[in-house]
Amino acid sequence: AIGIEESVQQAEELTALKVEVQQRVDTIREQMQAFRSAEDQRLQLAEQQIVDLTKKLETVQEKSEKLQQRLLEERNQAMIDPLTGVPNRLAYNERLAHEFARWRRYGSPLTVAVWDVDKFKAVNDTYGHQAGDKVLTVIANALHKQVRETDFVARFGGEEFVLLLPETTLDNAMGVTEQLRKRVETTAFHFRGKRVPITISCGVSEFRTGDSPERVFERADKALYEAKNSGRNRCCKG
Ligand code: GH3
Ligand code: MG
Ligand code: MG
Repeated sequence: AIGIEESVQQAEELTALKVEVQQRVDTIREQMQAFRSAEDQRLQLAEQQIVDLTKKLETVQEKSEKLQQRLLEERNQAMIDPLTGVPNRLAYNERLAHEFARWRRYGSPLTVAVWDVDKFKAVNDTYGHQAGDKVLTVIANALHKQVRETDFVARFGGEEFVLLLPETTLDNAMGVTEQLRKRVETTAFHFRGKRVPITISCGVSEFRTGDSPERVFERADKALYEAKNSGRNRCCKG
C-alpha cells in the first residue's frame, strides 16, 4: 500500500503537470488567435486594395471614354463646313475614297456632280458678303436635304459644291441634278425687299473603266465650264 507521504507527493506532481499543460494550451490558443487576427487584417487590407483599384480603374475607364468621345466629336467637327453646316472638302475626300474603292470592287455605277453658283460675285458686290453667305447656306441645305441618304453633298470650297451619287448612272444622275437645279431656281431669295433670282450650274460625270477620281472630277469640271458657257442655270454631261 502506498504511504500517505507518497500519495501527497504524487498529487502535487499531478497538479504541477495540470498547470503546465494548461499553460501550453493557453499559449497555443493565443498564438492561433494572433495568427487569425493577422490573417483577418491582411484579408481586410487586400479587400480594401481591390476596392481602391476597382475605383481607379473605373475612373480611368470613364476618362478614356470621355476622351474618345471628344476625339470623335472633334473629328466630326473637322469634317463640317462651319458656314453652311454641310460636310466639307475633307469629308468629301474621305467619302470619295470609300465610294471609289467600292466602285472598283463591285463595279456598280458611281457618278459625281460639281456645282457652282451662277454670277455669285454679283450677289456679293450688290448685296454684300453677308447676303452671299446666306445664299450659300440656303443652297447647301437645299442640296443636302434633297438628296438620298446614300448620296453625299459637300461644300467643296467658296461657292462650289460636290455631289456623289453611288449606284447611279449618268442618265439617272442627270434627273437628280436637274431637280436640284430647279429647286434652287425656284427658291425665293429676298434682299432689301426685292426678289433676287439665284441659280446654279453643274457638270456631271460617271466613273468609267480605268478612271481615277481626279479624271472624273476633271470631266465634271469641264462639263461645268460648258454649262457656264452655254448660258448657266443648267447641268451638262461630261
Ligand atoms: P460664274 O457664274 O461664272 O460662276 O460667276 P461667279 O461670279 O460666281 O464666279 P467667280 O468665280 O468670279 O466668283 C465667285 C465668288 O464667290 C467670288 C467670291 O467672292 C465668292 N465667294 C467665295 N466664297 C465665298 C463665301 O464663303 N462667302 C461669300 N459671301 N462669297 C464667297
Ligand atoms: Mg467658282
Ligand atoms: Mg460661280
